[in-house]
Amino acid sequence: MGVHGAEPLTKANPPDKATMSSATFGCKPAPDHLLDPSAARAADPAAGKQSVYLGLDTTLPDIDTERREEIRKKYPHFPDIYDQSALRRECLFRLPRWVEDWANANLIRDSRDMIMLSTLANMFVCTGGLSVVLFLFPSHKLGLFLTLFNAGMWVQRFILMMHYAEHYPLFKADLGFLRYFMCWVMAPFYGIPTGIYRTHHIMMHHKENNMFEKDLSSTEPYQRDSLVHFLHYWAMFWCLLFKLPLWAIRRQQWKILRDVVLGFGIWAFAQLLLKQNGHGIYAFYQFTLPALISSFALMFGNWSQHMFVHPLVATCDDLLSSYRYNCALTLNVFNHFDNQVAFNDGYHITHHIHPSCHWTEMPLSFLKNLEKYAEHDPVVFDRCGFFDIGLNFLIRKSFDPDGAWSWAAEHLVSFGPEKRSVAEARSFLEERLTPIPERTVEKAPK
Ligand SMILES: [Zn+2]
Repeated sequence: MGVHGAEPLTKANPPDKATMSSATFGCKPAPDHLLDPSAARAADPAAGKQSVYLGLDTTLPDIDTERREEIRKKYPHFPDIYDQSALRRECLFRLPRWVEDWANANLIRDSRDMIMLSTLANMFVCTGGLSVVLFLFPSHKLGLFLTLFNAGMWVQRFILMMHYAEHYPLFKADLGFLRYFMCWVMAPFYGIPTGIYRTHHIMMHHKENNMFEKDLSSTEPYQRDSLVHFLHYWAMFWCLLFKLPLWAIRRQQWKILRDVVLGFGIWAFAQLLLKQNGHGIYAFYQFTLPALISSFALMFGNWSQHMFVHPLVATCDDLLSSYRYNCALTLNVFNHFDNQVAFNDGYHITHHIHPSCHWTEMPLSFLKNLEKYAEHDPVVFDRCGFFDIGLNFLIRKSFDPDGAWSWAAEHLVSFGPEKRSVAEARSFLEERLTPIPERTVEKAPK
């Protein structure tokens, strides 16, 4: 049973297509990769026990059938969302149940985050094991394998796990020191300079909410379907080495300044020390090259999340946490594999409105408040992830514009009575791709 009593959607228990109108865009069945291939497991009482930790064989909180029907009637082109019943793929193997029980009693603040502990264990084994081997037997081939394996397998998972653990601490309060572990110890192994993520994301990005020039990673001044503009944006990431300390000085945030200088310092000094002591290959493939790759992933992700910014953000004086402001600022994507490996990261409007909303409740929060979103006609894409959007608009559109706009129109969700045509989708989205004019009002605080 789902947390709210709904049956998990499995191949044996598909969404009730019979109740959907054939004219309804949302009547497409759930994509295969989202469905649990083992219906029997969902009915297994032992599996039900495991589900207390929201693991591999349970569903996340969901709306009830009545609300689902209400949404179908109000928004006939709004598709059903299946992220709540999708298999969790954040880790490859779960810790034994007795370890989870012990951790639940002694380590973890919220049992819904237990899967993070398993993901951490997976990373210790994979990344830690490979790292030790490379340190002992350095070679370019092994180094390249380690870098690419980590980038393909773990970087996205790690960044998003650290992201949600920063917003919503993973460990109990009396184990406060453990909250620094991901950001200060593990991050450089996944290409993120020591201690920087919290300052950059929580203190700066969420506080300044993509506002140019206050948010140092703002996408607003760019033409956001231009590859050249994106490359400039990526290059600016490395200017954070200087701009982040200056940002802290301007705001007289001395603790942040200490963390940034200390973080960058430790990260650079450790690599230098390794090189000087004959571990240059290890330092390059374990820290330097991953930093280049992760900087691209971070900036490409942020660019794609804040690609469609409505010009009204420059003139409206709404609260930075309002639905109107955030619907103009970013987008939601759902029914995609990325939500399964990255803690439902696709619900980015929802995250900016409610940064402390637990990752397991993101689809529920979106669906419960759908009318508040629909009022502002947000950019919402079905069955694609942020990277698909970035690639479509930065790469494909330059050589196949018709194909790119058709793809966008197919995936773009319409909240009105009619589904948008390709031309309508294009004008809706193009308006949000142009550089945002200079602001005329000072933003209201959160
Ligand atoms: Zn965040």
